[in-house]
Amino acid sequence: VAKGAGKNQWRRYQAHLHTEMVERLELRSALDHAVNEGHFLLHYQPIVDLPTGTAVGFEALVRWHHPKRGIVTPDQFIEVAEESGLVVPMGRWVLEEALRTVAEWRRILPPGQAPYVSVNVSVRQFRESGFVDQVRTALAHTAVPPQALILEITETLLVKDDERIWTDLGVLREMGIRIAIDDFGTGYSSLGYLRQRPIDIIKIDKTFIDDMVTSSQPMALVSGIVSLAQSLGLTVVAEGIESATHREVLVRLGCPLGQGYLFSSPLGPTEVLAWLRSAQPIAV
Ligand code: C2E
Ligand code: MG
Ligand code: MG
Ligand code: MG
Repeated sequence: VAKGAGKNQWRRYQAHLHTEMVERLELRSALDHAVNEGHFLLHYQPIVDLPTGTAVGFEALVRWHHPKRGIVTPDQFIEVAEESGLVVPMGRWVLEEALRTVAEWRRILPPGQAPYVSVNVSVRQFRESGFVDQVRTALAHTAVPPQALILEITETLLVKDDERIWTDLGVLREMGIRIAIDDFGTGYSSLGYLRQRPIDIIKIDKTFIDDMVTSSQPMALVSGIVSLAQSLGLTVVAEGIESATHREVLVRLGCPLGQGYLFSSPLGPTEVLAWLRSAQPIAV
């Protein structure tokens, strides 16, 4: 009996693997279709000055407008997009669309009040040659100054010895674009290692912000990151601020910038201007 049960279990396991593989292949081909048809859109989440609550920029976050499933968030497809390389053409569209949008904000809003846009970039995009030129061309086409663009690279995706990426980041930074390390704290890089690197901003991953109010160790960690970053001349953005307590603690620790549901969830392109006009900044 036991042997038979084991055999059944094995078959179920095989069937499960098979289903998973088929699902991945289906996702990949649907994504391929979405890239060709342009079934993506961007949502924008405000990044605010923590003490005053004033928006300084927006992070562009991609969404897949799926014909049957509606708006799909990247946690459901970004991994497959990375693996398959489809993140490269998708990322090109994201960059161009984000710059078109920031150009429009700059046309509509009073000078000096237009927020910057922060765009997530996959390391796959850097591995394809010509990424730097792509950025330069997109800026020229939209007439957006490089100072209005931030590029975010996830810490875990940065392979330490990938010198070519650092070289490209250095060139982009020379152009006036700011570079942010996303999800900082989830990878292995220390701030000491990042010291000699062409970066401007550290984004502290939201897991640290979550844990900060319930235990003292993450709070000490966040405090350490903030003070060390500042001594290195880097700006810090805290991610995933959901409560007034999170914000108060961060302000007390001297963290200058943050984003999270407390201020706003990511907004559709038409909602951004309305939000900027109606949301009254609340100082702590
Ligand atoms: P990320 O760059 O770290 O973006 C922050 C994520 O946290 C976003 O999820 C955002 O909606 C979510 N978030 C913001 N505030 C809060 C909060 O207060 N609480 C919680 N629980 N979550 C919050 P989203 O939009 O699903 O994006 C997930 C990830 O997908 C991003 O993480 C980024 O790594 C990746 N991604 C998004 N757009 C792009 C893109 O255009 N290109 C590439 N390569 N990756 C992208
Ligand atoms: Mg990001
Ligand atoms: Mg992040
Ligand atoms: Mg992330």
